[in-house]
Amino acid sequence: MKLAARVKQVTPSLTLAIDAKAKAMKRDGIDVCSFSAGEPDFDTPDHIKLAAVDALMAGKTRYGPAAGEPKLREAIAHKLQTDNQLCYSAENIIVTNGGKHSLYNLMMALIEAGDEVIIPAPFWVSYPEMVKLAEGTPVIVQTTAESGYKITPDQLRQAITPKTRLFILNSPSNPTGMVYTPEEVRAIAEVIVEHDILVVSDEIYEKLLYDGAQHLSIGAVSSEVFDRTIISSGFAKAYSMTGWRVGYLAAPLELLKAVSIIQGHSTSNVCTFAQYGAIAALEGSQDCVEQMRLAFADRRQVILNLVNAIPGLTCLTPNGAFYIFINISKLGMSSLEFCDGLLNEQQVALIPGIAFGADDHIRLSYATDMTTIERGVDRLAAYVKSRF
Ligand code: GLU
Repeated sequence: MKLAARVKQVTPSLTLAIDAKAKAMKRDGIDVCSFSAGEPDFDTPDHIKLAAVDALMAGKTRYGPAAGEPKLREAIAHKLQTDNQLCYSAENIIVTNGGKHSLYNLMMALIEAGDEVIIPAPFWVSYPEMVKLAEGTPVIVQTTAESGYKITPDQLRQAITPKTRLFILNSPSNPTGMVYTPEEVRAIAEVIVEHDILVVSDEIYEKLLYDGAQHLSIGAVSSEVFDRTIISSGFAKAYSMTGWRVGYLAAPLELLKAVSIIQGHSTSNVCTFAQYGAIAALEGSQDCVEQMRLAFADRRQVILNLVNAIPGLTCLTPNGAFYIFINISKLGMSSLEFCDGLLNEQQVALIPGIAFGADDHIRLSYATDMTTIERGVDRLAAYVKSRF
């Protein structure tokens, strides 16, 4: 069958593929320790589930406005005002089928052939592929452990050309877990304004911060950068709502309307009663978010201590999200080779760094229970020992 050219240039999502493989192995009774997908192991808090159940029973089962339930759009605008000092109204918000979908819609509305999108590497697996699906050109800028895997203002400046349309900022970062400091965000904002480009800030991990790290939303730096900012986020990570598929995009009105048109012709509204769960997430107590963050903080400490004790592996201390990003270059293996061997020999699932533009690294998600962490890292140590 002849497929569209756009599909041929895109690679499947390795995060989803490896997660699916690990889950299938578990279903077959294999004792797998999975550190693959960035998916909290907690159940969605009860008050959120009950709000969706109530909405379902109250008949919120019909089509809704394509851009989202007005009450949810208002609650998101309020959250962005109070948490992030971003002056959006409900009209600037579209509710999407997860954070991933908000970014995809954005690329479709903004990017066309000839446009360049600057993406610092390591990057989340889907960014470059979404740019390619929109027929744009991803411009990958390699960062190093020395800069905490963060792009410097000079690197950004050098990557900008007359074709640059958009810069993707992701802090806290997936896959590195690193967080841009407020000073670093301000310095990046200066470059955005100086060169008059747009920035999309993927803030899906903003609530997961450790060691006193602070999250500054780039749009809050100045009105000049706010006018050039798009915010992408969602409920999956902070509220453990991965399967619900509720995310959002906040953008200048003209762009938001374009995104709404695309959504109106593709998915229509996000599942109506799921949106009522999201309203409860924002309007209810935020204690659940803090409890999960504290659990992640404990796990981070344990996993870092265990991994740092394995000769041959090195990793920085991340201060956000729930990932550690490990350098495996001393082993002289590609990341795929490493992860395939580990899954086959020790039944431990990790994501190879090649998915994130860093083939000498592997990513571990510690959004899993402490027993899996201890058993899995033991097996990882045995595997590395056998290769080193
Ligand atoms: N974002 C998560 C991850 O990186 C979930 C899987 C995906 O959507 O890529 O593991």
